[in-house]
Amino acid sequence: MTENSMIRRGLMLVLSSPSGAGKSTISRHLLDSDRNLQLSVSATTRAKRGSEIDGVHYHFVPERQFHAMRERGDLLEWAEVHSNFYGTPRDPVEEALSKGRDVLFDIDWQGTLQLKKAARKDVVSVFILPPSMEELKQRLVRRAEDKQDVIEARLQNARVEIGHWDEYDYVIVNDDLEKAFAAVRSIVEAERHKRERVIGARGFVEGMLNS
Ligand code: 5GP
Repeated sequence: MTENSMIRRGLMLVLSSPSGAGKSTISRHLLDSDRNLQLSVSATTRAKRGSEIDGVHYHFVPERQFHAMRERGDLLEWAEVHSNFYGTPRDPVEEALSKGRDVLFDIDWQGTLQLKKAARKDVVSVFILPPSMEELKQRLVRRAEDKQDVIEARLQNARVEIGHWDEYDYVIVNDDLEKAFAAVRSIVEAERHKRERVIGARGFVEGMLNS
C-alpha cells in the first residue's frame, strides 16, 4: 500500500493462543476495523462447529483432500492439532501480499515456526495469553460449543501451546479485551512503518532531497 508515496510489502500477522484466550474475538475486531487486513482462511479436517460457516471461518475438507493439498505443495504450512489437521492455503496469501495487503493468520505454534522459516522478514508474531488457566477453563466451558472430553483435550493442548510463548515477537495477556485489542492494533501500526518493510523509500526520499 502507498503511504506518502512509499510502497511496502504486506505483512503476515500471526496471532496464536490456546483456544479460549480470546484470539478469535480480537481477530474479528481487527478485521472489522482494518480494511487492509484480510484473514487467511485455513483448511481443516475438524468437524464444523454450530456457529461456523464453510469458506468463512475454515474450509472444511475431508482428510484425503487435505493430504492431497499438502502433497501438491498447496499449503504454506500445516499441523496436526487436537487430532485434526489444519493448514494454510498458499495462493490467497501470496496474492494478497503481492498487492501490499496484510494477512492475518490464526494458527498454532507449529505453523508459526514454519511461516517464520519460510518468510521470516514478513512475519510478525503475537502470542495471546489468558489471565490464568482457571479463567481459560471457564471460557471454554462458557463457550459450550465442545463436549466435556473435547474441553479437557483443549486444556491439555493449551499447556503445550502456552509453553511456546517465548518463540513469539510480542506477548499480550488478555485480561481486558479492549486493552488486548488496542495492544495488537498498535503492534500492527508500528510494524507497518518498519523501515525494512518499505520498498521504494530510497527513491522517494532522494526525490525529496533533490527537489
Ligand atoms: P480450533 O479448532 O479451535 O478452531 O483451532 C485449534 C487450533 O488450530 C488453534 O490454535 C488454531 O490457531 C490452530 N489453527 C487453525 N488453523 C490453522 C492452520 O492453518 N495451521 C496451523 N498450524 N494451525 C491452525
